[in-house]
Amino acid sequence: MKNQLQFIDSIPFHVRSLAAYQPGKPISDLARELNLTHIIKLASNENPRGPSPKVQAALSAAIHELPRYPDGNAYALKAALAARYKRFALKPEHIIPGNGSNEVLEMLTQVFLGPNTSAVFSQYAFAVYPLAIQARGAEGIEVPAKAYGHDLAALLSAIRQDTRMVFIANPNNPTGTYFAAQDIEQFLDAVSPSIIVILDEAYNEYLSPEHRDDSLVWLARFPNLVICRTFSKAYGLASLRVGYGLMNEALAAIVNRVRQPFNVNSLAQVAAIAALDDQDYVSDSYSLNCAGMTQMLAGLQKIGLDTIPSRGNFVLLRVGDGASIYQQLLERGIIVRPVANYGLPEFLRITIGLPEENQHFLNVLEQILHR
Ligand SMILES: *Cc1c(COP(=O)(O)O)cnc(C)c1O
Repeated sequence: MKNQLQFIDSIPFHVRSLAAYQPGKPISDLARELNLTHIIKLASNENPRGPSPKVQAALSAAIHELPRYPDGNAYALKAALAARYKRFALKPEHIIPGNGSNEVLEMLTQVFLGPNTSAVFSQYAFAVYPLAIQARGAEGIEVPAKAYGHDLAALLSAIRQDTRMVFIANPNNPTGTYFAAQDIEQFLDAVSPSIIVILDEAYNEYLSPEHRDDSLVWLARFPNLVICRTFSKAYGLASLRVGYGLMNEALAAIVNRVRQPFNVNSLAQVAAIAALDDQDYVSDSYSLNCAGMTQMLAGLQKIGLDTIPSRGNFVLLRVGDGASIYQQLLERGIIVRPVANYGLPEFLRITIGLPEENQHFLNVLEQILHR
Protein backbone atom coordinates (compact mmCIF):
# COMPACT_ATOMS: atom_id res chain seq x y z
CA MET A 1 0.00 0.00 0.00
CA LYS A 2 1.17 3.47 -0.77
CA ASN A 3 2.58 5.24 2.27
CA GLN A 4 0.19 8.14 2.68
CA LEU A 5 2.29 9.87 5.28
CA GLN A 6 5.43 10.35 3.22
CA PHE A 7 5.28 14.06 3.95
CA ILE A 8 6.20 13.30 7.56
CA ASP A 9 9.71 12.38 6.41
CA SER A 10 10.15 15.78 4.83
CA ILE A 11 9.51 17.58 8.12
CA PRO A 12 12.84 18.77 9.58
CA PHE A 13 14.08 16.42 12.29
CA HIS A 14 14.18 19.20 14.90
CA VAL A 15 10.43 19.64 14.44
CA ARG A 16 9.52 15.93 14.22
CA SER A 17 11.46 15.21 17.40
CA LEU A 18 9.87 17.99 19.46
CA ALA A 19 8.03 16.84 22.58
CA ALA A 20 4.72 18.65 23.08
CA TYR A 21 4.58 20.92 26.14
CA GLN A 22 2.87 19.16 29.06
CA PRO A 23 0.43 21.55 30.72
CA GLY A 24 -1.19 21.07 34.12
CA LYS A 25 -4.22 18.80 33.93
CA PRO A 26 -7.42 20.79 33.32
CA ILE A 27 -10.14 20.42 35.96
CA SER A 28 -12.60 19.34 33.25
CA ASP A 29 -10.34 16.39 32.27
CA LEU A 30 -10.23 15.02 35.78
CA ALA A 31 -13.96 15.61 36.29
CA ARG A 32 -14.67 13.57 33.14
CA GLU A 33 -12.20 10.79 33.88
CA LEU A 34 -13.08 10.13 37.52
CA ASN A 35 -16.61 11.52 37.62
CA LEU A 36 -15.62 13.85 40.45
CA THR A 37 -17.54 17.00 41.27
CA HIS A 38 -15.29 18.72 43.79
CA ILE A 39 -11.82 19.29 42.38
CA ILE A 40 -8.98 21.51 43.57
CA LYS A 41 -6.33 22.57 41.06
CA LEU A 42 -2.96 23.55 42.48
CA ALA A 43 -1.11 22.79 39.28
CA SER A 44 -0.53 25.82 37.06
CA ASN A 45 0.43 28.71 39.35
CA GLU A 46 -2.80 30.55 38.64
CA ASN A 47 -4.15 33.14 41.07
CA PRO A 48 -6.63 31.15 43.22
CA ARG A 49 -8.73 34.32 43.71
CA GLY A 50 -9.17 34.82 39.98
CA PRO A 51 -8.95 38.34 38.55
CA SER A 52 -10.00 41.62 40.16
CA PRO A 53 -13.77 42.27 40.15
CA LYS A 54 -12.92 45.40 38.15
CA VAL A 55 -11.71 43.12 35.36
CA GLN A 56 -15.09 41.40 35.24
CA ALA A 57 -16.86 44.74 34.96
CA ALA A 58 -14.51 45.87 32.19
CA LEU A 59 -15.03 42.62 30.30
CA SER A 60 -18.82 42.88 30.47
CA ALA A 61 -18.65 46.43 29.17
CA ALA A 62 -16.36 45.37 26.29
CA ILE A 63 -18.30 42.34 25.06
CA HIS A 64 -19.78 44.34 22.17
CA GLU A 65 -16.27 44.57 20.69
CA LEU A 66 -16.23 40.86 19.82
CA PRO A 67 -17.21 41.17 16.14
CA ARG A 68 -14.41 43.67 15.47
CA TYR A 69 -10.74 42.87 15.09
CA PRO A 70 -8.79 43.99 18.14
CA ASP A 71 -6.43 46.96 18.08
CA GLY A 72 -3.47 45.20 16.53
CA ASN A 73 -1.14 47.75 18.01
CA ALA A 74 -2.60 47.40 21.54
CA TYR A 75 -2.40 51.19 21.85
CA ALA A 76 -4.28 51.51 25.15
CA LEU A 77 -2.57 48.56 26.81
CA LYS A 78 0.88 49.81 25.85
CA ALA A 79 -0.05 53.30 27.05
CA ALA A 80 -1.21 51.89 30.39
CA LEU A 81 2.01 49.91 30.81
CA ALA A 82 4.15 52.90 29.80
CA ALA A 83 2.30 55.05 32.34
CA ARG A 84 2.87 52.44 35.02
CA TYR A 85 6.60 52.28 34.23
CA LYS A 86 7.03 55.99 33.53
CA ARG A 87 9.68 56.32 36.25
CA PHE A 88 11.92 54.11 34.13
CA ALA A 89 11.40 56.20 31.01
CA LEU A 90 9.61 53.33 29.33
CA LYS A 91 7.56 54.24 26.31
CA PRO A 92 5.03 52.28 24.23
CA GLU A 93 7.84 51.76 21.70
CA HIS A 94 9.64 49.55 24.23
CA ILE A 95 6.70 47.16 24.68
CA ILE A 96 5.79 44.04 22.70
CA PRO A 97 2.46 42.57 23.81
CA GLY A 98 2.09 38.82 23.45
CA ASN A 99 -0.52 36.09 23.46
CA GLY A 100 0.84 35.23 26.88
CA SER A 101 4.48 36.04 27.57
CA ASN A 102 5.10 32.65 25.99
CA GLU A 103 4.44 34.19 22.62
CA VAL A 104 6.98 36.94 23.32
CA LEU A 105 9.56 34.20 23.99
CA GLU A 106 8.57 32.53 20.72
CA MET A 107 8.86 35.76 18.75
CA LEU A 108 12.33 36.39 20.14
CA THR A 109 13.52 32.91 19.22
CA GLN A 110 12.07 33.46 15.75
CA VAL A 111 14.06 36.67 15.40
CA PHE A 112 17.38 35.38 16.73
CA LEU A 113 17.59 31.63 16.27
CA GLY A 114 17.92 29.23 13.39
CA PRO A 115 20.18 26.35 12.34
CA ASN A 116 23.82 26.82 13.38
CA THR A 117 22.94 28.99 16.34
CA SER A 118 22.52 28.11 20.00
CA ALA A 119 20.85 29.40 23.15
CA VAL A 120 21.75 28.80 26.78
CA PHE A 121 19.44 27.94 29.66
CA SER A 122 19.65 26.20 33.02
CA GLN A 123 18.74 22.69 34.02
CA TYR A 124 15.30 22.87 35.73
CA ALA A 125 14.52 26.14 33.93
CA PHE A 126 11.03 26.71 32.50
CA ALA A 127 10.27 23.91 29.99
CA VAL A 128 9.21 26.29 27.24
CA TYR A 129 12.81 27.49 26.62
CA PRO A 130 14.28 24.25 25.24
CA LEU A 131 11.13 23.68 23.15
CA ALA A 132 11.18 27.18 21.64
CA ILE A 133 14.90 26.82 20.86
CA GLN A 134 14.54 23.39 19.26
CA ALA A 135 11.55 24.51 17.20
CA ARG A 136 13.87 26.97 15.41
CA GLY A 137 16.43 24.31 14.57
CA ALA A 138 18.88 25.87 17.01
CA GLU A 139 20.89 24.00 19.62
CA GLY A 140 19.83 24.30 23.26
CA ILE A 141 22.74 24.32 25.70
CA GLU A 142 21.52 23.15 29.10
CA VAL A 143 23.76 24.17 31.98
CA PRO A 144 23.72 22.08 35.19
CA ALA A 145 21.80 23.73 38.02
CA LYS A 146 23.34 24.79 41.30
CA ALA A 147 21.24 23.97 44.39
CA TYR A 148 18.21 23.60 42.04
CA GLY A 149 18.68 27.16 40.78
CA HIS A 150 20.55 28.74 37.88
CA ASP A 151 24.35 28.79 38.05
CA LEU A 152 24.96 32.26 36.61
CA ALA A 153 28.73 31.85 36.26
CA ALA A 154 28.25 28.55 34.45
CA LEU A 155 25.59 30.08 32.15
CA LEU A 156 28.13 32.74 31.23
CA SER A 157 30.88 30.21 30.50
CA ALA A 158 28.51 28.09 28.42
CA ILE A 159 28.08 30.88 25.87
CA ARG A 160 29.73 29.93 22.56
CA GLN A 161 30.58 31.73 19.35
CA ASP A 162 27.24 30.67 17.85
CA THR A 163 25.16 31.55 20.95
CA ARG A 164 22.54 34.24 20.42
CA MET A 165 20.41 34.15 23.57
CA VAL A 166 20.44 33.27 27.26
CA PHE A 167 17.24 32.56 29.18
CA ILE A 168 16.98 33.36 32.88
CA ALA A 169 13.74 32.90 34.84
CA ASN A 170 13.70 34.93 38.05
CA PRO A 171 12.07 33.51 40.12
CA ASN A 172 12.41 30.27 38.21
CA ASN A 173 9.56 27.87 37.55
CA PRO A 174 9.34 25.02 38.67
CA THR A 175 11.99 25.46 41.38
CA GLY A 176 11.05 28.90 42.77
CA THR A 177 14.72 29.82 43.10
CA TYR A 178 15.59 33.51 42.93
CA PHE A 179 18.53 35.86 42.41
CA ALA A 180 18.82 39.23 44.08
CA ALA A 181 19.27 42.22 41.77
CA GLN A 182 23.03 42.55 42.23
CA ASP A 183 23.60 38.99 40.95
CA ILE A 184 21.61 39.55 37.77
CA GLU A 185 23.22 42.95 37.31
CA GLN A 186 26.67 41.40 37.57
CA PHE A 187 25.65 38.86 34.93
CA LEU A 188 24.43 41.60 32.59
CA ASP A 189 27.70 43.48 33.07
CA ALA A 190 29.70 40.38 32.21
CA VAL A 191 27.77 39.07 29.21
CA SER A 192 28.64 40.26 25.72
CA PRO A 193 26.23 42.95 24.46
CA SER A 194 25.79 40.84 21.32
CA ILE A 195 23.92 38.18 23.34
CA ILE A 196 20.21 38.69 24.06
CA VAL A 197 19.42 38.08 27.73
CA ILE A 198 15.80 37.16 28.38
CA LEU A 199 14.85 37.82 31.95
CA ASP A 200 11.56 36.01 32.49
CA GLU A 201 9.71 37.62 35.40
CA ALA A 202 6.39 35.77 35.27
CA TYR A 203 6.28 35.75 39.09
CA ASN A 204 7.41 39.35 39.58
CA GLU A 205 4.25 40.39 41.48
CA TYR A 206 4.96 37.73 44.11
CA LEU A 207 8.24 39.40 45.08
CA SER A 208 8.12 41.85 47.96
CA PRO A 209 7.06 45.24 46.55
CA GLU A 210 10.45 46.91 46.99
CA HIS A 211 12.09 44.40 44.62
CA ARG A 212 9.49 44.24 41.85
CA ASP A 213 11.04 46.99 39.78
CA ASP A 214 14.71 46.16 40.40
CA SER A 215 15.26 45.01 36.84
CA LEU A 216 13.55 47.89 35.02
CA VAL A 217 16.43 50.34 35.53
CA TRP A 218 18.68 48.01 33.52
CA LEU A 219 16.72 48.35 30.29
CA ALA A 220 18.31 51.71 29.52
CA ARG A 221 21.79 50.43 30.34
CA PHE A 222 21.64 47.05 28.58
CA PRO A 223 20.06 47.19 25.11
CA ASN A 224 20.49 43.41 24.89
CA LEU A 225 18.12 42.85 27.84
CA VAL A 226 14.51 41.72 27.37
CA ILE A 227 12.21 41.54 30.40
CA CYS A 228 9.11 39.36 30.05
CA ARG A 229 6.09 39.71 32.31
CA THR A 230 2.59 38.30 32.24
CA PHE A 231 -1.02 38.79 33.29
CA SER A 232 -1.40 35.01 33.69
CA LYS A 233 -0.19 34.64 37.25
CA ALA A 234 -0.81 37.27 39.96
CA TYR A 235 -3.23 39.22 37.75
CA GLY A 236 -5.40 36.13 37.39
CA LEU A 237 -5.89 36.24 33.61
CA ALA A 238 -4.22 33.00 32.46
CA SER A 239 -7.09 32.05 30.18
CA LEU A 240 -7.12 35.31 28.23
CA ARG A 241 -3.46 34.90 27.18
CA VAL A 242 -1.74 38.23 27.60
CA GLY A 243 1.81 39.11 28.55
CA TYR A 244 4.50 41.46 27.28
CA GLY A 245 8.16 41.99 26.67
CA LEU A 246 10.06 45.18 27.57
CA MET A 247 13.07 45.85 25.40
CA ASN A 248 15.17 48.32 23.51
CA GLU A 249 13.16 50.32 21.00
CA ALA A 250 15.15 49.19 17.95
CA LEU A 251 14.79 45.56 18.96
CA ALA A 252 11.06 45.98 19.61
CA ALA A 253 10.64 47.43 16.11
CA ILE A 254 12.13 44.25 14.64
CA VAL A 255 10.24 41.84 16.90
CA ASN A 256 7.09 43.69 15.91
CA ARG A 257 7.61 42.53 12.32
CA VAL A 258 7.23 38.85 13.22
CA ARG A 259 4.32 39.49 15.58
CA GLN A 260 0.94 38.32 14.31
CA PRO A 261 -1.21 41.34 13.45
CA PHE A 262 -3.91 40.65 16.07
CA ASN A 263 -2.03 38.51 18.58
CA VAL A 264 -3.74 39.89 21.70
CA ASN A 265 -7.54 39.82 21.54
CA SER A 266 -9.65 42.79 22.53
CA LEU A 267 -11.04 41.28 25.75
CA ALA A 268 -7.53 40.40 26.86
CA GLN A 269 -6.40 43.98 26.23
CA VAL A 270 -9.35 45.43 28.13
CA ALA A 271 -8.88 42.98 31.02
CA ALA A 272 -5.15 43.63 31.27
CA ILE A 273 -5.71 47.40 31.46
CA ALA A 274 -8.35 47.00 34.19
CA ALA A 275 -6.12 44.55 36.08
CA LEU A 276 -3.15 46.94 35.95
CA ASP A 277 -5.40 49.66 37.28
CA ASP A 278 -6.31 47.65 40.40
CA GLN A 279 -2.99 47.42 42.23
CA ASP A 280 -4.80 46.97 45.56
CA TYR A 281 -5.99 43.63 44.23
CA VAL A 282 -2.43 42.66 43.31
CA SER A 283 -1.32 43.71 46.75
CA ASP A 284 -4.02 41.54 48.39
CA SER A 285 -3.07 38.61 46.16
CA TYR A 286 0.55 39.03 47.21
CA SER A 287 -0.41 39.01 50.91
CA LEU A 288 -2.65 35.99 50.44
CA ASN A 289 0.24 34.16 48.80
CA CYS A 290 2.64 35.05 51.64
CA ALA A 291 0.17 33.72 54.21
CA GLY A 292 -0.57 30.65 52.07
CA MET A 293 3.12 29.90 51.62
CA THR A 294 3.63 30.11 55.40
CA GLN A 295 0.64 27.84 55.97
CA MET A 296 1.84 25.35 53.33
CA LEU A 297 5.43 25.23 54.59
CA ALA A 298 4.33 24.79 58.21
CA GLY A 299 1.97 21.96 57.21
CA LEU A 300 4.57 20.22 55.08
CA GLN A 301 7.14 20.48 57.82
CA LYS A 302 4.67 18.83 60.19
CA ILE A 303 4.26 15.96 57.71
CA GLY A 304 8.06 15.84 57.49
CA LEU A 305 8.54 16.75 53.81
CA ASP A 306 11.35 18.83 52.31
CA THR A 307 10.79 21.78 49.99
CA ILE A 308 13.01 23.98 47.86
CA PRO A 309 12.79 27.58 49.16
CA SER A 310 10.53 29.42 46.70
CA ARG A 311 9.90 33.07 45.87
CA GLY A 312 6.91 32.32 43.63
CA ASN A 313 3.32 31.28 44.30
CA PHE A 314 4.27 27.60 44.23
CA VAL A 315 6.64 25.24 45.94
CA LEU A 316 8.62 22.21 44.86
CA LEU A 317 7.99 19.41 47.30
CA ARG A 318 10.06 16.24 47.69
CA VAL A 319 7.59 13.38 48.04
CA GLY A 320 9.68 10.37 46.96
CA ASP A 321 7.66 8.69 44.20
CA GLY A 322 6.23 11.76 42.48
CA ALA A 323 4.19 9.82 39.90
CA SER A 324 2.46 7.67 42.50
CA ILE A 325 1.62 10.52 44.88
CA TYR A 326 0.40 12.60 41.94
CA GLN A 327 -1.96 9.79 40.94
CA GLN A 328 -3.25 9.28 44.46
CA LEU A 329 -3.91 13.00 44.81
CA LEU A 330 -5.81 12.97 41.48
CA GLU A 331 -8.01 10.13 42.71
CA ARG A 332 -8.90 12.33 45.67
CA GLY A 333 -9.73 15.32 43.46
CA ILE A 334 -6.51 17.29 43.82
CA ILE A 335 -4.48 18.26 40.75
CA VAL A 336 -0.85 19.20 41.33
CA ARG A 337 2.03 19.25 38.87
CA PRO A 338 4.37 16.32 38.30
CA VAL A 339 7.87 17.45 37.32
CA ALA A 340 9.50 14.21 36.14
CA ASN A 341 9.73 15.83 32.69
CA TYR A 342 12.13 18.32 34.30
CA GLY A 343 14.26 15.47 35.64
CA LEU A 344 12.73 15.87 39.09
CA PRO A 345 10.78 12.59 39.55
CA GLU A 346 10.96 12.75 43.35
CA PHE A 347 9.20 16.10 43.44
CA LEU A 348 5.76 17.60 42.86
CA ARG A 349 5.13 21.28 42.27
CA ILE A 350 2.28 22.66 44.36
CA THR A 351 0.64 26.01 43.63
CA ILE A 352 -0.33 27.99 46.72
CA GLY A 353 -4.13 28.08 46.76
CA LEU A 354 -6.78 29.62 48.97
CA PRO A 355 -6.32 28.85 52.70
CA GLU A 356 -9.00 26.13 52.68
CA GLU A 357 -7.53 24.55 49.54
CA ASN A 358 -4.07 24.48 51.11
CA GLN A 359 -5.46 22.86 54.24
CA HIS A 360 -7.41 20.27 52.28
CA PHE A 361 -4.29 19.43 50.26
CA LEU A 362 -2.24 19.03 53.45
CA ASN A 363 -4.88 16.79 55.04
CA VAL A 364 -5.16 14.56 51.98
CA LEU A 365 -1.39 14.35 51.55
CA GLU A 366 -1.00 13.35 55.18
CA GLN A 367 -3.60 10.60 54.66
CA ILE A 368 -1.85 9.31 51.53
CA LEU A 369 1.49 9.19 53.29
CA HIS A 370 -0.01 7.65 56.47
CA ARG A 371 1.70 10.20 58.67
C1 LIG B 1 3.70 30.86 33.62
C2 LIG B 1 5.03 31.25 33.09
C3 LIG B 1 5.15 32.06 31.98
C4 LIG B 1 4.00 32.77 31.36
O1 LIG B 1 3.17 32.20 30.62
P1 LIG B 1 2.08 33.03 29.82
O2 LIG B 1 2.34 32.64 28.43
O3 LIG B 1 2.30 34.49 30.04
O4 LIG B 1 0.79 32.54 30.36
C5 LIG B 1 6.40 32.43 31.53
N1 LIG B 1 7.49 32.01 32.18
C6 LIG B 1 7.43 31.27 33.27
C7 LIG B 1 8.67 30.90 33.97
C8 LIG B 1 6.19 30.84 33.75
O5 LIG B 1 6.12 30.06 34.82
